[in-house]
Amino acid sequence: MTYDDIDIGYDVPAAIGDNIADIQTPALIIDLDAFERNVARMKDHAEAMGVRLRPHAKTHKSADVALYQMASGGAVGVCCQKISEAEALVRGGVTDVLIANEVADPKKIDRLAWLAESAHVSVCVDDPTVVAALSEAAALHGVTLDVLVEIDCGARRCGVLPGAPAVELAKAVAAAPNLAFTGIQAYHGSAQHIYDPVERRAAIDKAIGMARETADLLRDAGLEPAIVTGAGTGTHDLEGASGVYNEIQPGSYIFMDADYARVRSTEGNGTIGGFEHALFVLTSIMSKPASGRAICDAGLKAHSIDSGLPTVFERPDLTFASASDEHGKIEDPQDTLTLNDRLRLVPGHCDPTCNLYDWYVCVRNGRVEALWPVTARGKLY
Ligand code: PLP
Ligand code: MN
Repeated sequence: MTYDDIDIGYDVPAAIGDNIADIQTPALIIDLDAFERNVARMKDHAEAMGVRLRPHAKTHKSADVALYQMASGGAVGVCCQKISEAEALVRGGVTDVLIANEVADPKKIDRLAWLAESAHVSVCVDDPTVVAALSEAAALHGVTLDVLVEIDCGARRCGVLPGAPAVELAKAVAAAPNLAFTGIQAYHGSAQHIYDPVERRAAIDKAIGMARETADLLRDAGLEPAIVTGAGTGTHDLEGASGVYNEIQPGSYIFMDADYARVRSTEGNGTIGGFEHALFVLTSIMSKPASGRAICDAGLKAHSIDSGLPTVFERPDLTFASASDEHGKIEDPQDTLTLNDRLRLVPGHCDPTCNLYDWYVCVRNGRVEALWPVTARGKLY
């Protein structure tokens, strides 16, 4: 990009080549070395398990990240959660998107079919009326949509019951013009962040059982599920090694938030998959009003705290104690902080945090190497 018409600080938080100290804060920064290591780790895990990797792009909402995952990270495509998110990424050059979610609104279904004119698009269903609407829209746009039946494998979110109800729905998909029955999605969302590895495995063992039973029944009915997909960062190793799933959908592994750092790995005491923090909210101290207390410029509008408050990276002596709209209160018992000091906060939850920013400021060796737009920021419709 050129800077002819761009105000650094107003339009973008930094210029390429800037020192980290010059970035306008709060800013969302990616440590490129750590990010690239995370991408390579998941590629290796998926390859070792012999499963396809379709990372969830709702984490980053970035065409740059998605294209990097596909070019260098072993990804066959990405998942999106919303049609507008998929539209934004396809416009950014992404060629293969699974809407790993349900779509019910007829206008959205029409947009989905339209999008399939310019990319490979697949979608989940859990309702026969949607099957009919998808078929009609696909015919109208002259496309064939790949459709996966989503089963509820324990999270009690979307999805038909495993077993016979899933087979019934799959039959409806297979019989519908312009739809191709491609397989099942069995994603257990609430198991991803179970900290204890034994409890997490127990939840996923049940999910794997339901996916296996459903896949077997589908085969008996002559409906081969070519794709059995699911799994997030917290359980990718379990579904991946199950012999039942042949595709995994982790999202957060690229960035690793503070809550995922609390999820213990299945093998031992380390973090899940050896992934490391690569996403930070860079914040500055704007006030040092009293002994033991410093105030930073990253409050509720700078990071999502639904999964807990951020941690202060590499500063175990500091505690992010509370957030108001535009302020963060830092406990600094040894009074180490002074005005304009910078801290790297590890967001409690990465996905909603990314949606708060226009730009990723990508840093390496203390300098800004790239600026990536959060392409699908606010694309929730
Ligand atoms: N697949 C689906 C359907 C999801 O909803 C999510 C996240 O909620 C993921 C995959 C990725 O999960 P994570 O970010 O925990 O890796
Ligand atoms: Mn999340």
